[in-house]
Amino acid sequence: MKVLVVEDEVRLARALRRGLEAEGFSVDLAHDGHEGLHLALEGDYDALVLDVMLPGLSGYRVCQTLRAASNWVPVLMLSAKDGEYDEADGLDIGADDYLTKPFSYVVLVARLRALLRRGAPERPVVLAAGDLTLDPATRAVRRGEDEIALTPREFALLELLMRRRGEVVPKSQILGGVWDSHYSGDPNVVEVYVGYLRRKVDTPFGRRALETVRGVGYRLAADGG
Ligand code: CA
Repeated sequence: MKVLVVEDEVRLARALRRGLEAEGFSVDLAHDGHEGLHLALEGDYDALVLDVMLPGLSGYRVCQTLRAASNWVPVLMLSAKDGEYDEADGLDIGADDYLTKPFSYVVLVARLRALLRRGAPERPVVLAAGDLTLDPATRAVRRGEDEIALTPREFALLELLMRRRGEVVPKSQILGGVWDSHYSGDPNVVEVYVGYLRRKVDTPFGRRALETVRGVGYRLAADGG
């Protein structure tokens, strides 16, 4: 079992390596965020122990970048002290577990073993269709590097279509999912909102990701158009 420890406190990092090696793990160390991210992307690790406060790039950014690159290595995050960061933040950006310093070494090993047993489930944090991405946690939508501002209703419509990218989603299901199941207004509201979305995520970029399938519903091209 190969574990990467990303921790800038050198003594703590070395102590972790000694301890984990004694448990039979093979351990690599990185002391800043950039080095940690590089090793995590290049190496084939079974798990990461990732400090939150790191020079260069924070543990959050490292984890987020890994998930955005579809790397689902199990991540155990370490934070400096309780309350400094919200545990939910760490879990939202794709960490699998969270431990507050100072921690008991026995607890760390137990949590690590539990993560390794679970393995790396494919659990996309950020939805992607080609270069069109939507992050349900931060509510950010992007075309490549360009951030796109959407209204809450437009966001909900795009999220629904992205979760089912490549499929034709019937208009009735869109009405039920994005408006509500008792919506009794004009069903053409869906066409109107798809038009709004096209003007934000497609037209400015010369794309045609949002298709109208006449008489049936709408489809978002899986490759982003
Ligand atoms: Ca640190």
